[in-house]
Amino acid sequence: MKAVIFRNTDEPVEFTDIEISAPKRGEVRVKIAAAGVCHSDLHIRRGEWDAAVPLVMGHEGSGVVVELGEGVTSLSVGDHVVLSWVPPCGECRNCRSGHEARCRTVATIVAPRGVLFDGTSRLSKDGEEIHHYLGVSSFAEEVIVPASGAVKVRDDAPLDVIALVGCAVATGVGAVLNTAAVEPGSTVAVIGCGGVGLNVIQGAKLAGALRIVAIDIRPEKLELSAQFGATDRIDASSVDAVDAVHEFLPDGVDYAFDAIGRTLTTEQAIQMLGLGGAAVIVGLPPTGARASFEPLTLAESDQRILGSNYGSIRPAIDIPALVDRYMDGQLKLDPLVSSRRPLSEALAALDDLETGSALRTLLIP
Ligand SMILES: [Zn+2]
Ligand SMILES: [Zn+2]
Repeated sequence: MKAVIFRNTDEPVEFTDIEISAPKRGEVRVKIAAAGVCHSDLHIRRGEWDAAVPLVMGHEGSGVVVELGEGVTSLSVGDHVVLSWVPPCGECRNCRSGHEARCRTVATIVAPRGVLFDGTSRLSKDGEEIHHYLGVSSFAEEVIVPASGAVKVRDDAPLDVIALVGCAVATGVGAVLNTAAVEPGSTVAVIGCGGVGLNVIQGAKLAGALRIVAIDIRPEKLELSAQFGATDRIDASSVDAVDAVHEFLPDGVDYAFDAIGRTLTTEQAIQMLGLGGAAVIVGLPPTGARASFEPLTLAESDQRILGSNYGSIRPAIDIPALVDRYMDGQLKLDPLVSSRRPLSEALAALDDLETGSALRTLLIP
């Protein structure tokens, strides 16, 4: 099958033929309908994160189940699924206590080693082992994933667009509803209005936030933020974002979401908080990045800094619910898709994201 391989930063991303083997026990084969291109894919391409290479890129996707491995009873051939980049093992302490986004098996085996649960890969090229990326590797015609990583959703939902639910929507909306549990009437600031940030904004609207301040440096993204529920907008290319938030809301905000994940934006999120406020880190920085804050202020102001991994979701419950909210008109997905490209144009799609000109590109095999 065709797939997009990353080897190292010296070589371009390669669109090539690879071999995919049959699903083993507890796994399924999924034919990809669409794969979204996310900032995490850029981190990999830039060499900013450690990953087992070579790998097939992509961690956001949707498709149709085409083959079941032994023992799989939760899915049937023909099911429409959204892929989850945390395929919960269901057996570790965190999975058993309902914190599936913190699955230990995923954090210690699947993600760092680029393999499936049994420690091996189903992908190869001319005898060379190719790694899975986050248990997904959706920049391909087909994937083999653990059954828990293919979440069945209603089949009347448009299969390509709902790929976004698997990362951007789950991460952004989940950070608001699950990680931070924003209360109705709250004040919220969101730094970064890209694919994840706009989902934080629509999550805050769903949660009943009273004021939602959108912050970005690109006017067209700020424009879009109003459609998603932002009540106030700050163009941080011309003003200091922290000062501007305090002009809108002199007491600071209850929740500040960093949807970018740079040292500057994380520090700004903390500085925007009012008494009792919480800064939520949703966007991910390169490995080793550091940010600073004043502990005295944090303690005296009774503030919190929260990390949000995958929106703290429980994939089997939250992914179908997010698709339902989209079908009910409570969540917007279509304006997030800035273009559709064939899989062979993955490199161009990554470039679009790099320059900031794309929200989400869908790669269609
Ligand atoms: Zn992502
Ligand atoms: Zn687990």
